[in-house]
Amino acid sequence: MDLSYGAEIESFREEVRKFLAANWPLQGEEAGRSREEQTRLFRERAIAEGYLCRNVPRKYGGSEQPADPLRAQVIREEFTAAHAPMEPRGIGTMMLVPTLLERGEEWQKEKFVGPTIRGEITWCQGYSEPGSGSDLASLKTRGELVGDDWVINGQKIWTSGAMEADYMFCLVRTEPEAPKHAGISYLLIDMKSPGIDVRPLRQMTGSSEFNEVFLTDVHTPRDWIVGKRGEGWLVSRTTLKHERNSIGAAAQSLGLLEGLVDLAKERRLGGRPAIEDPGIRRALVEIEGYVRAHQYSGYLQMTKGLKGEDAGIIQLMNKLNSTNIGHRVAHLAMEILGDEGLRAPSSRGLGLSAAGTSTESWIAQYMASLGIAIAGGTANIQRNVIAERGLGLPRDSAANRSK
Ligand SMILES: Cc1cc2nc3c(=O)[nH]c(=O)nc-3n(C[C@H](O)[C@H](O)[C@H](O)COP(=O)(O)OP(=O)(O)OC[C@H]3O[C@@H](n4cnc5c(N)ncnc54)[C@H](O)[C@@H]3O)c2cc1C
Repeated sequence: MDLSYGAEIESFREEVRKFLAANWPLQGEEAGRSREEQTRLFRERAIAEGYLCRNVPRKYGGSEQPADPLRAQVIREEFTAAHAPMEPRGIGTMMLVPTLLERGEEWQKEKFVGPTIRGEITWCQGYSEPGSGSDLASLKTRGELVGDDWVINGQKIWTSGAMEADYMFCLVRTEPEAPKHAGISYLLIDMKSPGIDVRPLRQMTGSSEFNEVFLTDVHTPRDWIVGKRGEGWLVSRTTLKHERNSIGAAAQSLGLLEGLVDLAKERRLGGRPAIEDPGIRRALVEIEGYVRAHQYSGYLQMTKGLKGEDAGIIQLMNKLNSTNIGHRVAHLAMEILGDEGLRAPSSRGLGLSAAGTSTESWIAQYMASLGIAIAGGTANIQRNVIAERGLGLPRDSAANRSK
């Protein structure tokens, strides 16, 4: 097994390093500007150089590079090492932009893609409803065409970031007579529209990152639909594919493990550093086994992509592996923290990112690891997908009954 990237890619790495050394952090007068302004300037230069927004055409503000997973990986590695800004990490860039590029109208791409990748506008995802999560196609929020507008009535829930988002991409039932998957459309909604009531939900971490969103006679223009009327289910599948890929990066698991090892070195258990405790050492090695397996699956997936082959089941396993590891890591951190782990969490939700060594961060990490395993399709639903699409096992009978 050859894990090197090859001479051509390593020389590309040198180019990226030179660019970063010259451009991040910003120098001279620019270094005195606000963090936001510095990030904007840096991103502009990185896009011009072809390092960021690589899959977005130039006419919509991207750098339009040919698909190249190895170069993309090197950029991620080097930008992360230099703590340089990447694309804004939001639902808009990760989920909506790829969906619009694949299925949107020309005017929709022109209007929304550039401002989204520059971080000028933000989005929230209006899919889940009180009675429709895993069985999303049963959703009931209605959209009716009245004159030149869609008029929307219903309720969404668990809508992350809705309290500050500018727009929502939303699934609504527009053909009540059609079979459930066929009756849904994918609409874009301005969150400032009259009739939208956003109510934050307080989580056990203490923060309020997601919301209930009530929609009462909300108007959105007739052409703010992505894909054809009644084809919203198909369009939403594009978005979810991107969501699952984005959550599944092995690099995050490695970062978490490193943070956990640091914690085990710093904290004491039974009068000695936790890292010297045989039980903790055994658990750490076990987790490292999962992390390395995840990392090498990532390499295999990349190699298959480079050869133009379908990554098949490996791709389907990404999210489940990431969230399982995230949970194991956080669980062991709680064991290391002992009674300290019973303290109230900080209000920062960390998801799958590195938690450092502070007690509050690890408590928040533990709680967030439970939520991440649910967001974007629960772990059990992932298992169903792996079993059915990956292994060819018979369809889940409960799911069949509900369709
Ligand atoms: C942190 C977080 C952020 C979120 N952000 C958003 C957002 O921005 N926008 C949005 O629209 N939604 C969001 N969600 C909602 C998320 O998509 C749903 O919670 C998820 O799809 C599960 O739906 P549910 O909560 O209704 O659970 P249910 O579907 O009721 O599931 C309950 C339990 O039953 C299991 N289950 C259900 N069906 C099956 C089956 N067929 N086979 C086996 N097990 C099954 C599930 O695995 C789960 O354990 C977010 C959720 C979280 C936790």
